[in-house]
Amino acid sequence: MSRGTRSAHHDTTASPDVRMLLRQHGLRCTPSRIRVLNLFSESGRHLSIAEVCGRLARAGVAVHHTTIYRTLESLTAIGLMHAVHGPGAARYGISAEPHHHTVCQECGEVSAIASRHLTDAVGRVEELTGLRPDSSGSLLVYGRCARCD
Ligand SMILES: [Zn+2]
Ligand SMILES: [Zn+2]
Repeated sequence: MSRGTRSAHHDTTASPDVRMLLRQHGLRCTPSRIRVLNLFSESGRHLSIAEVCGRLARAGVAVHHTTIYRTLESLTAIGLMHAVHGPGAARYGISAEPHHHTVCQECGEVSAIASRHLTDAVGRVEELTGLRPDSSGSLLVYGRCARCD
């Protein structure tokens, strides 16, 4: 990952999509909401509040943990984002493409697996238990990530 090359763009110049998304959900386009959404859509990762602060700080933006927390809570409440509670700090992700999660029990890293890759597994769950899992976010696979192994 090339840290730094894109960091200068983590400002309030939001893509039109981000502004539209917020308005569609009845939320004002505050600088912190725009920054947070931009950060998550650019990184494509699940991040903890501390990681969000760290990335913003490296981009030259100082935002308090509390502000990030409130921002993430408001975006989660309307379904634009979601929280994954594994070991350690909760990680947040953007709810764009349907996906399930892996969680590292060692470092808490959360990764996404596109739902389309797990159609068979989800089908088996229903077959074996009668429960029909949600197409997004219902599977949580615990283990050790490549870095912790
Ligand atoms: Zn996710
Ligand atoms: Zn790990």
